[in-house]
Amino acid sequence: MKKKLIVLFLSLSLLICIGCSNSEINISDNNIEVKGLTLKISLITVAYDVYRTNIGNSTTFNKEFYSSTGNYGLEYYKWLKDTYSSMDSSMKRKLINIFKNHGNWSYVSETISLDDNASVEEIVERLNSQSNLELSEMQKDNIDIFFKYFYKEHLKELIKENNYMIEKNTKEVNSFLENKNIDIFKFMEESSGIKFKKDYKAVFYYDLPPIGAMGFEEGNLKISTILPNTTKKDLLSTPFHEYSHELFKSFTKGIDFKKMANKLIKDKDLYDTYENIGKDAYDWVGWCDENLVEGFAKYLEYKYYNNKSEKSLYAYDLKFCNYLIENNFNQDNKSLEEISMEFYEKVLDGKL
Ligand SMILES: [Zn+2]
Repeated sequence: MKKKLIVLFLSLSLLICIGCSNSEINISDNNIEVKGLTLKISLITVAYDVYRTNIGNSTTFNKEFYSSTGNYGLEYYKWLKDTYSSMDSSMKRKLINIFKNHGNWSYVSETISLDDNASVEEIVERLNSQSNLELSEMQKDNIDIFFKYFYKEHLKELIKENNYMIEKNTKEVNSFLENKNIDIFKFMEESSGIKFKKDYKAVFYYDLPPIGAMGFEEGNLKISTILPNTTKKDLLSTPFHEYSHELFKSFTKGIDFKKMANKLIKDKDLYDTYENIGKDAYDWVGWCDENLVEGFAKYLEYKYYNNKSEKSLYAYDLKFCNYLIENNFNQDNKSLEEISMEFYEKVLDGKL
């Protein structure tokens, strides 16, 4: 269940921000690049974690949840608790005012286009003067005071403690990507037989929270945050899933897929998982789509890393992955849409 929760939060937070402007992100000629820690992301995500672990959602974001991600997660959790208890009541109030109406994603979607070296002052300036958030004067004042205090008194030290590990991971992952000369978009297009709408580049930013990742779109950049312990082995798992959504949308938005989804309501496994973990983030058609997307992401992992996943997150993700492998899926013979519909037909016929 915990694993499922993690994935749910990943899915919940992998929303796409379209239409941001003033991008100052520099990217090399490679079409995939991994960057280290930035304040424009971590100042907000870590402060948000202090908020939700102590006030916003302390029942879900509890010790057990963080511990389940490993030792780093447990230490991070303790830091969140200690940091909050060391704040005076006026700072605690400011923290609550900042996050009670806007989550981490809303704020980062405003700051993500800043320069990677943006300072706390520049971040505050962006949020308070140039953002689309409808902040009250009091919230602006709270943002100004709290974030400057939070960086100086708490976050600076946490970054110092973890920067070495993250810099090391960043270097390793980038040299892996360079050596393998990875073109993730081309690989996904060739594997699916479907073209992306744009000539994308992928940018990943390491972040400090051990739970949750976020996605943004900026022009032709697909931007994702990644967990601090991400290595070359699992770097591509998240984008395989995230980017597959665009490919599947090319047919799951159509009438045939909607008809299929209506028939699938009678499938107990799919319906039960929807009730338990799906309905907060997806409508029913979206849930039928999400199962296929995760299955296809697993299939890509298998093709790319030669690593066969045995873990099922949903009702039909792993089964769809296996179906693609067993039927030697080849888009020259059968389209991704055809094999997806065929798969769900078999589900309905009770043949899987
Ligand atoms: Zn998804």
